[in-house]
Parts: sequence; C-alpha cells; structure tokens
Amino acid sequence: MGIKVAKFGGSSVADGIQLRKIKDIIEADSDRKYIVVSAPGKRYDGDNKITDLLYLCGTHMEHNLPYDQLLQVVTDRFMAVKVNLGVDVDIDGEFAVIRENMRKGCSADYLASRGEYLNALLVAAFLGYDFVDTAGLIKFDGKGRLLLEETDEALRSELASHERAVIPGFYGTNAETGRVRTFSRGGSDITGALVARAVKADIYENWTDVSGFLKADPRIVAGAKPISRISYKELRELSYMGASVLHEDAIYPAKLANIPINIRNTNAPDDMGTIITAEHEGGADDVITGIAGKKDFTVIAIYKNMMSNERGFVRRILTIMEDFDVDFEHIPSGIDTVSVVVDTQQLNGNRDDLMEAFERQLNPDSMEVFDDIALIATVGCGMSRRHGVSAALFTALAEAEVNIRMIDQGSSEINIIVGVENKDFEKAIRAIYDAFEGK
Ligand code: ADP
Ligand code: ASP
Ligand code: MG
Repeated sequence: MGIKVAKFGGSSVADGIQLRKIKDIIEADSDRKYIVVSAPGKRYDGDNKITDLLYLCGTHMEHNLPYDQLLQVVTDRFMAVKVNLGVDVDIDGEFAVIRENMRKGCSADYLASRGEYLNALLVAAFLGYDFVDTAGLIKFDGKGRLLLEETDEALRSELASHERAVIPGFYGTNAETGRVRTFSRGGSDITGALVARAVKADIYENWTDVSGFLKADPRIVAGAKPISRISYKELRELSYMGASVLHEDAIYPAKLANIPINIRNTNAPDDMGTIITAEHEGGADDVITGIAGKKDFTVIAIYKNMMSNERGFVRRILTIMEDFDVDFEHIPSGIDTVSVVVDTQQLNGNRDDLMEAFERQLNPDSMEVFDDIALIATVGCGMSRRHGVSAALFTALAEAEVNIRMIDQGSSEINIIVGVENKDFEKAIRAIYDAFEGK
C-alpha cells in the first residue's frame, strides 16, 4: 500500500457531474488517500469561476457597492452541488458566517479562500473522508512568503491523524496576524505539492482538463503533441513562462522530497498524462521539450559608450530597481548596452520616476523603451547537445516575419528566450512549434 495525493483543479470539481467523475477516480485506487480540491471552476465556455466571483464580491465590498446578488450566485452554485450529491453540509449556515464576516470587513483573501473551503467540505462529505482545513497549517510570513518548513511540520503532524482526508487548496494563514492568506492564482497546485511532501507520498497526481503537459498551449497550437516525461527543471521554466497547467511554485516542494508529479485528465482518466521527475534524458528525437510564453513586458534599453569598462554599472541598475520595488525578468547585455526586461504592470505607476533615476544615476548616452513585448521560452534538455538549435529557431521566426526584440539564452542551456511584439506572440509560438515538431 502506498500513498497518493490527488489534486483536482477547478474544471474537475465544477459541478455534480465532475464530482462524480472524481469519486470514481479516487475509488479506483485505494492509495488515493489525500485529496486536494480547488474551488469550482467553469462548467462551460463563458461560465464564471467561483474564485473570480468571490474576488468580484470583495471588490464590491471594498467600494461599498451592493454585493448581495453576486454572493447569491455563489451560494446557489454550492447549494446546487449539495442537492445534486445529496450530502449533509450546512451551506446556509456557512454563508451566514461568510456574510457576517463580510459585514465586519473581512479581507479579500479570506473571501477568495471560501471557494476552496466550501468545496472541500462538500467533497469530504461526498467521499466520506475527513475534512482538514489548511488555515493554521499552511503558514505565511507577514510579507506573504510561504514558511516552508513550518508548514511541512504542521501538515505532517495534523495529517498523521487522518488516514484519508480532503484538503482545500489555495490558502493558509498569515502566521503573524492569524488571518487567512492565499497563494497567487492557481495556487491549489502548491497546496497539493505541500501535502504530498508532508505525507511522503509516492506520487503527486494533478488532475486537470488536459491529458498532461503539451508541447505548447493547446489554445495557441491546436493539436500540440503531449509530453510524456519532463524534468522538474524544464517544467519550472515552462510554468514560469506561462504554461499554466501547473503553478510554477508547486514544483519545488515535490522536487525537495523527490516525489514525481503526474498531470492527468479527469475527463480521460485512462490517459497516462505527463510524468515529471528529477531527470529526463530527452529521447533521440527530442530537441525541444516545450514552448511557453507570456505577454505584456517592457524592455528598457540603456546605451552608454564604454559601458563595459565602467565597474558596477549593472549593480547600479539593479539597486535603482530595488529602490522602486520593480523586479527584472531578464537583463540581456551587449558591450555598450544593457536591457532590462520588466513586467509592464509592475512598472506602471513608477515608470517616470524610475526612468528619471536611471537618467540621473547612470548618466547613459541614451535610453529606449519598448512596450508590448511578449517573451517566449523554448525549453529542452536536448538543446545543449545539438548544434544549430538557435539557428533553426531564428530562421523559423524570420520566415514567419516576426521581429525579434530581445534574445537571452540561459547559461544552463535548457532554454532560449526571445522577446517579440505582443501582436506576433501566437504567430511566433506556432512558427517555433512547426520548426521543431511540425515535421
Ligand atoms: P486547473 O483548473 O485544473 O488547475 P488550469 O486551467 O490551471 O487547470 O490548467 C490547465 C489548462 O492549461 C489547460 O486547459 C490549457 O488550456 C492550459 N495550458 C497552457 N499551456 C499548456 C500546455 N503547454 N499544455 C497543456 N495545457 C496548457
Ligand atoms: N481557485 C483558485 C484560482 O482560481 C486556486 C486554484 O484553482 O488553484 O486561482
Ligand atoms: Mg490550475
């Protein structure tokens, strides 16, 4: 007998029909002892995710706008699930508590977390498993950073007394204030990985609506091929760069405990999906493992003659950015130029002051700012062993008439990152995919 942790994402727990599917999956393997659930997601195109509705209620609350109707939509969805499954959970009572907390001015995090909380209550009742709340077990510091070891200890000692449990994803507690704190969006994946580490699971199954990781986002490349095996390292690059299947921070806890992650499809449970482990030696034909990307970056290019002779130039750039609380994504540099690539949203609000500080403290010959840049990462352990990978990639982009605004190749040689204009994003991904996989 082993232990499997199974996390089910929003679409896998969207309604009674989906919850019956997950029950079948769980009951098909008695090792599936710890179940982590997201809040109900979309049931069909154009539907709303419960988490989005809850955030919207929070925004209404903050602006003193009426939110009763919105909250009623959320209540009705949970009520429908309760009736559909015929379980004994006091949804009305739970919403009375939530409404009362809203009247007292609860936090947006608390409100958002209720989607996972209520869903876990319902699923626990439906499966006949214990419900274990993560409030007080998953701990964050005052700045919202996860306290990894404290969390591991707390989860480990609590779960030791539950042979089978359903655990809500997405949130924990701020250890300083005792208030609910959520991860960033998609964070139930992280809860799953933390639980897997704490119970020393043999495998962390992440059940979603695709049969594993595909070599490119299926919404961009229709019919993208599946990836059967991938390393944590490659996956982290892809997740970080926007392959949204698994939250990028879910990889570290699993990697620490050397627990394989298996991405599976709730709607096609016989498909084996993608296995993620420490090592993956690409097959003979596997030049690249996958492609992912994100839009809306800004590149600030700083030019200064003889820059390379000036000690500490990059350090000064970084210090200025730190002063403005702006993170950088990449800093490709040439002999007389340095570009900093930043998330446009983070820059806005500070942009003019940051540029002024660059001007004053760096005294550059000139600076240029390019907005609307998308970053695309082409990832693969197999790339470092091959010649001509970058040449093939750049040729493909040139043939597709995509302008490259930035290039950065990680020193680990498992990825090549290019910056293109937002408008060329999809076209560029398709061109790269076709160049390596389209034969
Ligand atoms: P869940 O709600 O189960 O957590 P997500 O929506 O977070 O699911 O992640 C699954 C979705 O990720 C898929 O439906 C797909 O649209 C998207 N996706 C993006 N990139 C990829 C990729 N490379 N492979 C597979 N799916 C991808
Ligand atoms: N429900 C949360 C979200 O929509 C967390 C998750 O589903 O992982 O972001
Ligand atoms: Mg997700």
